[in-house]
Amino acid sequence: MKILLVEDEKKVASFIQRGLEEERYQVDLAFDGRTGATMAVSESYDAIILDIQLPGMDGLDVLRYIRGHGVTAPVLMLTVRDSVEDKVTALDSGGDDYLTKPFAFAELLARLRALMRRGQQRNGENRLEAFGVTVDLHTHQVTRNGRTLDLTGKEYALLELFLRHPGKVLTRTMIAEQIWGYNFDSFTNVIDVYVNYLRKKLDQTQGPKLIHTVRGVGYVLRREEDSGQ
Ligand code: CA
Repeated sequence: MKILLVEDEKKVASFIQRGLEEERYQVDLAFDGRTGATMAVSESYDAIILDIQLPGMDGLDVLRYIRGHGVTAPVLMLTVRDSVEDKVTALDSGGDDYLTKPFAFAELLARLRALMRRGQQRNGENRLEAFGVTVDLHTHQVTRNGRTLDLTGKEYALLELFLRHPGKVLTRTMIAEQIWGYNFDSFTNVIDVYVNYLRKKLDQTQGPKLIHTVRGVGYVLRREEDSGQ
């Protein structure tokens, strides 16, 4: 079992790391959010322990970023702030559970085990589908009406984001945050360029246009007859 720990306080980090290694987990450490986010999307982890208060990119940003990049590993958030609002935000952003510092190691271990059990049960249905388009979240295979599409990494990430929100308008800001992350320069037209790439590939197959431009706002994945126009 491999776990990613993102925690900037070295003392806390080594306390958790030592404990987990004694339990025979393999632990990778990141001391800041940016590094943690990169590791989470490039490696496969059974669970992620994520501190909320991190320098630079904070834990909630990391969480949104990795969920936007298709990371489905269960995430246990660590917080010092015991406010209801924080907990709600943590869970809304795609966190699975949270733990308030200071905590006993046994408690962390119990929560982590529960999350990983739930994660394994959830892994049965790792497929997204809407309007005849499917993506396999494990193999990244994409099909439309049974025909396989060959997408680049960014095109795939975009399509996955659309499939997670069928019929809902995605703003450029949301797309930028989810796909390009924290460093994104919103004055470039890179989003429009990639949406067009994806659109062309979807249009190569049979069926109506699926990605529609919502002027001045963003894009929506839907069938035209569903739009009421
Ligand atoms: Ca911290």
